[in-house]
Amino acid sequence: MPERIVSPKPRTEDVELDVSLRPRHMADYIGQEKVKENIHIAIKAAQKRGEALDHILLYGPPGLGKTTLANIIAVEMAVNIRTSSGPAVERQGDMAAILTNLKKDDILFIDEVHRLSRVVEEVLYPAMEDFALDLIIGKGPGARSLRLKLPRFTLIGATTRFAMVSPPLRDRFGAVYRLDFYNKDDIAAILKRSARILNVKAAEEGLEEIACRARGTPRVANRLLKRVRDYAEVMAKGVVTREVAIGALNKLEVDSLGLDQVDHLVLRTIIEKFDGGPVGLETIAASISEEADTIMDVYEPYLLQLGFLARTPRGRVATRLAYKHLGLEYKGGTEAPQGSLF
Ligand code: ADP
Repeated sequence: MPERIVSPKPRTEDVELDVSLRPRHMADYIGQEKVKENIHIAIKAAQKRGEALDHILLYGPPGLGKTTLANIIAVEMAVNIRTSSGPAVERQGDMAAILTNLKKDDILFIDEVHRLSRVVEEVLYPAMEDFALDLIIGKGPGARSLRLKLPRFTLIGATTRFAMVSPPLRDRFGAVYRLDFYNKDDIAAILKRSARILNVKAAEEGLEEIACRARGTPRVANRLLKRVRDYAEVMAKGVVTREVAIGALNKLEVDSLGLDQVDHLVLRTIIEKFDGGPVGLETIAASISEEADTIMDVYEPYLLQLGFLARTPRGRVATRLAYKHLGLEYKGGTEAPQGSLF
């Protein structure tokens, strides 16, 4: 599969964007009001008590601002943040090294926390609960356990797969927050801020058009803005009007709701090869030569959010809305379980 312009996962071209566009303060973090409010209260309470913040688990599809939020929390708490990720911490010793290097009140951010191995996780349990590191000295019957004290720290875990975080780890987070797809207005506000920072001349309607096609995901919105800007510079004297945005995005084959060819392929496969479903995820994956995990993490959340796909115990079903969007005749089956995003 080619790299997708609408992928919510980071692409190489995002690195420079991330540095300049990532909000540093809560005031610049747009949307997710409930989560922001809860975190704001938790921060104020911790500061009042002069204590470290409780451990926090953030979950939701990629590109919605989990890493950004972790960094903002560090800024608001005026503490250091160390960053790692589940797959990067391979051995117990790696985790022990990370923990012993923490200073009082530091934040440890672990991305993809569901991908930590069970043995590595076991080092985290006493660290999160008692701020202690249990070391085993020696081997066999003579082995002794030694408990090292760690400074108080805050673990912020991020995951795209809440269900894959093991229950013992999940239970040790004091707060769990779910990030949702952003609505069109919030994405438009994010784009407005980004256009200002990147010095892009853009009409409100131009940004709105990009917002409609950004899959409720800030990372995708910023990436599309950059591509539309390039198009505007070459084709339209640098101004992002509605027409320019439509022209650029059509050229990128991102449709009016932000779906690309792969989304179309997923939906068409279900509809045309499997009579609209239900069909198992693995079968869909095999039909389009994609990994089931990628479909679940990357394509499916947005299609579910739009109400184009429904999950049933017997597999995925394409809904009436999906047929309509693709211009196909609906032949009965399951209705969309919830309203569409826009
Ligand atoms: P995640 O960790 O959930 O994959 P990130 O935190 O890396 O997502 O966010 C991706 C990019 O989207 C960031 O670099 C930032 O520019 C932008 N972004 C995310 N959330 C917001 C927000 N609430 N307001 C403004 N920009 C945001």
